[in-house]
Amino acid sequence: MKLAIPREGNDPRVALTPDAVAKLSELGVEVCVEKGAGQGAFYADDDYDGATVLDRDALLKSADMVLSIHPLPDEDLAKLSPETVVIAEFKPFADAEITDRLRGHKLKAFSLDMIPRTTLAQSMDVLSSMASIAGYKAVLEASRLLPRYFPMMITAAGSIRPATVLVLGAGVAGLQAIATARRLGAQVEAFDTRSAAKEEVKSLGAKFIEIEGAKEDTGAGGYAVEQSEEFLKRQREEVQNRAMKADVIITTAQVRGRKAPLLVPKSTVEQMKPGSVIIDLAASTGGNCELTQDNQTIVHNKVSILGNSNLAALMPQNASQLYANNVVNFLKILVKDGALNLDLGNEIIRGAYITPAPEANENE
Ligand code: NAD
Repeated sequence: MKLAIPREGNDPRVALTPDAVAKLSELGVEVCVEKGAGQGAFYADDDYDGATVLDRDALLKSADMVLSIHPLPDEDLAKLSPETVVIAEFKPFADAEITDRLRGHKLKAFSLDMIPRTTLAQSMDVLSSMASIAGYKAVLEASRLLPRYFPMMITAAGSIRPATVLVLGAGVAGLQAIATARRLGAQVEAFDTRSAAKEEVKSLGAKFIEIEGAKEDTGAGGYAVEQSEEFLKRQREEVQNRAMKADVIITTAQVRGRKAPLLVPKSTVEQMKPGSVIIDLAASTGGNCELTQDNQTIVHNKVSILGNSNLAALMPQNASQLYANNVVNFLKILVKDGALNLDLGNEIIRGAYITPAPEANENE
């Protein structure tokens, strides 16, 4: 089986790192990489020992399986032979048409962001790998923009109090942001609608903000559910009280398949101290802050607001390594003796497989 690794368009990461080539060869997978695919993550073509380096057209034409981070553009999908297996983060929960498009090209697609968030699948969880990097980078970006120290400083010229960081959404990214901000010496407080987050927040040395009445649903696969407007109003009031004292707000609150909840309205930004910073990781789904602009840093009323849902791309080497490790673990169950092992009895494969043939009796 020939596995193709194309160069990502606007992203320095690469879906497979050189160390994975030998591991995949043990599964009967022959790796082909596009010229320059690893360049942005500091891997030269020569580093891919045991792989064939091809130009894009030859790569796509010869592929049995294509692995990428972002979905390939339509013109590339059209170049693949029918029945080619494509693996990427297709985000079918956000893009209602992607599955039909892939089926239209007669491709078999596996979406890595649909792998269930279970203990068994943890080693294949690209969402967690990337969110963790994003949470770390969010704090570093905040420290870059903040005109003040994170840690307490006692100097001959006087003492500086530590920064206060407010983290909204304590999932994978939020928890890593809390840990990183704590390591830098900030005082951290955090909130999440999932009650399970409370102990995790506290174990990292941060304060958990209590807001009564959040809705939870154990059937949502661990994901948060949409809250009532009444709850969100109360939450915004609580955020407003704390925002006035915060130096940094990091927002990561997301509800899968929905617009991100609005937690930091313009009026709250306008009450923050001059020089304060908001990092909004929910930018691509509308943002948790009313003023966020996706992929931009703006300044409003002397408050910097950075909107970016792809901060993992700012650390392309480790991000590529972790992504590749996750994928190798997934391929260990998806490939057997160099061929696709479409075992739909396996819940991980079933969860990721987004283009199963429509049921024969669907239209009856
Ligand atoms: P996510 O990116 O979908 O959302 C980020 C966080 O925002 C979540 O913690 C969510 O509860 C929170 N949120 C949503 N609405 C909010 C609001 N109004 N106010 C405050 N917070 C709000 O989440 P994620 O980081 O991808 O994690 C999703 C779930 O998967 C979590 O329950 C996590 O513990 C779980 N998980 C499990 C595993 C595993 O067992 N293998 C691995 C990773 C994550």
